[in-house]
Amino acid sequence: MAKKSVTILGSTGSVGRSSLDLMRSSNEFDLFAITANQNEELLIKQCREFNPRIAVIGDENLADSCYGSLRRSDCDTELKVGRDALDEVASDSAVDIVIAAIVGSAGLNSTINAAKSGKRILLANKEALIMSGQLFMKTALESGSTIIPIDSEHSGIFQCLNNEKSEVNAIHFKNVEKLVLTASGGPFLNLDPSEFKHITPEMACAHPTWKMGKKISVDSASMMNKGLELIEAHHLFNVDMPKLDAIIHPQSIVHALVYFLDGSVLAQLANPDMRIPIAYGLTYPRRMESGVEHLDLVELTDLQFLEVDEDRFPCLKLARLAAKEGGSSPILLNAANEIAVEAFLKGKISFVKIPQIIEEVMMKIPCESPASIAIIHDLDLRARQLSNQLINKGS
Ligand code: NDP
Repeated sequence: MAKKSVTILGSTGSVGRSSLDLMRSSNEFDLFAITANQNEELLIKQCREFNPRIAVIGDENLADSCYGSLRRSDCDTELKVGRDALDEVASDSAVDIVIAAIVGSAGLNSTINAAKSGKRILLANKEALIMSGQLFMKTALESGSTIIPIDSEHSGIFQCLNNEKSEVNAIHFKNVEKLVLTASGGPFLNLDPSEFKHITPEMACAHPTWKMGKKISVDSASMMNKGLELIEAHHLFNVDMPKLDAIIHPQSIVHALVYFLDGSVLAQLANPDMRIPIAYGLTYPRRMESGVEHLDLVELTDLQFLEVDEDRFPCLKLARLAAKEGGSSPILLNAANEIAVEAFLKGKISFVKIPQIIEEVMMKIPCESPASIAIIHDLDLRARQLSNQLINKGS
């Protein structure tokens, strides 16, 4: 069997590192390219261990030191620099599989480029899909690109739907009544709402069941992550929002459920470890060993499922609103959230300000049709500028 050639966009992040872990234990893959933005030290370390053909450092200011470090290291990886290089390694004709694991809107162009070039895309970078929605799915459909979600909940749905239709882009839903994503509820599920104003970045990043990057950890704490995931599922599976639901499941063992017409419910269960959905995406429709332990069902004595309290988590409400409005609303939601989360992590605003900034941005920028990538970038920029203004004037 010929080896599959893989590019990992965001190899220095949490999803990127889990992906490399799978490369370490399998000889089915050739690593074509890995990328980082600023974490030069880890990128070089990964080059030494995995010897990819290309490494990309996104931040151009680090080019010289990165060239120097790579020259001194014992590997013949070629270094490329900047955003265009990210697009190149996502679309190179030598590549079969692209793992889209850059965080936030920074991953949009490279992920779209992978979709244009007909790659199998293992999609973690949900923000790219939130921003470009229908355009992204249409691009993938036209090029023959297969999108396999590796967000654990979407992978769960994808696995449960396997008998219905094998590819996300073309699932047909005659038999499906409802798709349900589970949410751990994050670290503040039981915190008194009057205490939310005292939440620190350290508290928000201490997720009870998953180890993730900082941005998604804060999104999980505010439950914006679940909101983004509902929009992600809407596009990925081509399902109307009323057929999508979220429930709280603090143990993060059941990742998703599919309700069928006849009363059957299929659920996907696994220990919370990103290597499972990534492994599934890499070898689909086969499965490979992921190194993750099987569940011990006898040990799992207390699996809970609770309704989501949207008054406690206004970010989820805003995401539902953006999904309902459609058009540019999800782009504004996403951009304002990225800026607000960054400001929260830097200690510039409190946790409770995050939804307030998002709401104001969504109200003030009129909705329009995001018909091209240029329009999407323009809307994203306007939402970022307004968010920054609101943060700076202490809105
Ligand atoms: P991390 O913050 O851990 O990693 C982000 C990666 O993106 C790093 O490699 C980082 O490089 C790179 N990056 C950041 N900014 C830029 C930029 N401007 N240009 C190019 N590269 C950039 O994030 P996660 O791995 O946690 O998440 C990645 C994506 O996957 C997110 O969209 C998240 O929502 C999604 N996801 C994550 C899950 C998880 O378990 N972590 C689960 C499901 C989805 P550097 O290290 O140099 O900064």
